[in-house]
Amino acid sequence: MVAEIISVGTELLLGNIINTNAAYLAEKCAALGISCYYQTVVGDNEERLTDTVKTALKRSDILILTGGLGPTQDDLTKEVVSRAMKKELVEDQKAKEMLISFFEKRGKEITDNNWKQALVPKDSIVLYNENGTAPGIIIEDGKKCAVLLPGPPGEMKPMFETYVTDYLKKKSPQVISSVTVKICGIGESKVESMIQDMLEKQENPTIAPYAKTGEVHLRVTASDVDEKAAMKRIKPVVKKLKSRFANDIYTTDEKITLEHAVVDLLLSNKLTLCTVESCTGGMLASRLINVPGVSDVFKSGHVTYSNKAKKKITGVKKRTLEKHTAVSAQVAEEMAKGGSLASKADVTVSVTGLAGPDGGTEKKPVGLVYIACYVKGKTTVEEYHFSGNRSKIRENATAAALILMRRCVLEYITEVSFGKKES
Ligand code: ATP
Ligand code: MG
Repeated sequence: MVAEIISVGTELLLGNIINTNAAYLAEKCAALGISCYYQTVVGDNEERLTDTVKTALKRSDILILTGGLGPTQDDLTKEVVSRAMKKELVEDQKAKEMLISFFEKRGKEITDNNWKQALVPKDSIVLYNENGTAPGIIIEDGKKCAVLLPGPPGEMKPMFETYVTDYLKKKSPQVISSVTVKICGIGESKVESMIQDMLEKQENPTIAPYAKTGEVHLRVTASDVDEKAAMKRIKPVVKKLKSRFANDIYTTDEKITLEHAVVDLLLSNKLTLCTVESCTGGMLASRLINVPGVSDVFKSGHVTYSNKAKKKITGVKKRTLEKHTAVSAQVAEEMAKGGSLASKADVTVSVTGLAGPDGGTEKKPVGLVYIACYVKGKTTVEEYHFSGNRSKIRENATAAALILMRRCVLEYITEVSFGKKES
């Protein structure tokens, strides 16, 4: 079953609005197991829209169009598609009544051009619009069908969910399921090289890598007759990935973010947290505070941007700053230790680095970042070299701080449980 998405609107072509409808529909089709080989954007032009629809009818089974269903002169989608599929337009009584009541409720008069919104192609399925005036329409012709939806996302999405999902489910015998394996602390190329054999052999399920800052997500997707059968295909592949990446996988739950996983780790081990940030300027604290329930672990977050603040808040020694400068492993270490001393937190992460664009030297170039993590008396310091602009470097440093924190806490937990077993 092959679908094609046609987004209608000159505003889209001019770049005045972003085509979020196409992204939404593409994702929905994929989730329903419907392949989507083409997406087209076409202006409000009768001739070019007709051409687009005729081409799509030749190569696709399902056409999904958005936009151009409204009352104005340039809204032509319904007229063009009906003509291309040889259906005459007739008045739909319920659509007409809904139109009247829509205007009545708002105390507005119906202008003449509005009546065309009550016209629908003969024998079509009418998708009544609870959020606007133009009804959506499904036109069927043998094995082909065209789904016409209004342009405003606030009308299109509820209509898709209420009517179109079920309609398409019946048309498509397959369902698609996926599980995302989220890996942190290993680069994309390394991840790919570690699963080269699996990537080469993939068919059903497929494995798709997505690189994010500091993370790589592997989306394992299978299609089968139902969810259960698709999951049965996915499970052994996820198991294999788990055996290869072990602790570098922080979750296989779509909803869990890296900061969420880190907070959960602290929560379940009853460890409290403090952050001390220089170049990230609060980004790390902000990511952690994204997680609901973080208040149970997060004691305090400090932005010690100046040397004075580093000394005052986290007790970094004047001597250390003079000898090694603010961007150094020694200062990062003192920031982390000092943070825990000041806040009495079990874990403190500190970040100090050069985000640029100025201030780099040959010895200490822009992108050099030191991150330290103190966990109950033990401090680990790492040196990083990030590239990109100021915000990219700060984003990278924030992700690296979360990853280092996770690694150090995991090491601490292993040591503690190992110690317990030994004693
Ligand atoms: P209306 O009845 O409002 O005229 P319509 O179905 O005729 O709706 P359009 O006139 O094409 O749709 O678009 C109306 C508005 O819907 C646009 O101004 C835009 O805000 C939004 N819109 C249209 N198409 C898209 C799209 N592909 N992605 C995101 N938004 C869109
Ligand atoms: Mg319109």
